[in-house]
Amino acid sequence: MKILVLNCGSSSIKYQLFRMPEADVLARGLVQRIGEPMGQIDQQSPAGNFRLSEPVPDHGVGLKRVIEMMTEGDGAPLRSVDEIAAVGHRVVHGGERFTQTVLIDDEVIAAVEENVELAPLHNPPNLQGIRVARSVMPHTPQVGVFDTAFHQTMPPRAYLYALPMSLYREGRIRRYGFHGTSHRYVSARAAEYMGRSIEHLKLITCHLGNGASIAAIENGQSIDTTMGLTPLEGLVMGTRSGDVDPGILLYLARSRGLSIDALDKLLNKQSGLLGLSGKSNDMRELEKLAADGDQDAGLALDVFCYRIRKYIGAYMAALGGLDALIFTGGIGENSPYIREHVCKGLDGLGVCLDVGLNATAPRGSECDVSAYGSRSRVLVVPTDEEKLIAMDTYALATASTK
Ligand code: AMP
Repeated sequence: MKILVLNCGSSSIKYQLFRMPEADVLARGLVQRIGEPMGQIDQQSPAGNFRLSEPVPDHGVGLKRVIEMMTEGDGAPLRSVDEIAAVGHRVVHGGERFTQTVLIDDEVIAAVEENVELAPLHNPPNLQGIRVARSVMPHTPQVGVFDTAFHQTMPPRAYLYALPMSLYREGRIRRYGFHGTSHRYVSARAAEYMGRSIEHLKLITCHLGNGASIAAIENGQSIDTTMGLTPLEGLVMGTRSGDVDPGILLYLARSRGLSIDALDKLLNKQSGLLGLSGKSNDMRELEKLAADGDQDAGLALDVFCYRIRKYIGAYMAALGGLDALIFTGGIGENSPYIREHVCKGLDGLGVCLDVGLNATAPRGSECDVSAYGSRSRVLVVPTDEEKLIAMDTYALATASTK
């Protein structure tokens, strides 16, 4: 059975075609600059690697072109569009309504629409992808996998802000958390790697990429996470500030007359690693700059690692122990430097990293970098959100046809 996974942004479509249940990737690609005078489609498959530069006026044209590309040429991964048994969509915000993956129908679309105000940048293009896929493949089941769903098990003490309750009851202002698909995937993989049932594990998963978040996971359920109502809270990120004193916003608005848009730009685009270093939001570049003696780059890395370490301590307290600390995401999987500096000083809490093992951990595979005798294991687990979306989609599509 072939499953197409779509992740639609405002001007892009990221996609992968899977053969299930093996989860073999048959094709993957990216449509970029949708709506601009010149678009670009890159696709890799056994039939070859293609790059097309042509106008892609909207997501509908983009998806049709992608399907054409997957059906063309020798070794094409698809004979026709009818071979796609189901489509899995990444949807950023499911609010409180969606606690798990669902088959999409009109009611689900209406509910996702209701969450647009909670994720104004992400949910509209996700919805557009769903509408377009439904029109191109009207008889194919469509499945929604929500970034927020995994965190819906958080108890009120973790998801409530200490604001007037009416803001939660009437305005739905609370912690939702994001990267749920990644936290769910790597926690399940970690349990399997450890040969233990996830029902008996206390885990902390650190998804460290350009966006970054940590989750505390008990018995396979998220009990707390660092991102909040929006993906701005918590860790220091590429260009996002993460936690700040909310009083700073009031201060900047009052004393410097900063508008809402200016504050938005400051917090989302000009802060984080970029803001601290003044040079880059890219971890590889910052590590190099710091190694060459750039003090601001060094400070940015220090603030980044300290914030993570602080949350690890907090989540060990929330969990009442820790069986494994898991690193994933572009930085978590690939940066021995960051893993080492995050774990520095955690020995007293029973989290001991083996510096040698950490430095030589093979890229792209699951591995244990904990020191001999460490009470908690320290694991590196590559994430694969698309694969989990494909697995969920396959499970629902096969259940719906039984
Ligand atoms: P992601 O958003 O998960 O794709 O992660 C992007 C981040 O991972 C960027 O900051 C990259 O610089 C970082 N990254 C990727 N490879 C490495 C590496 N080998 N060492 C350090 N950081 C890396």
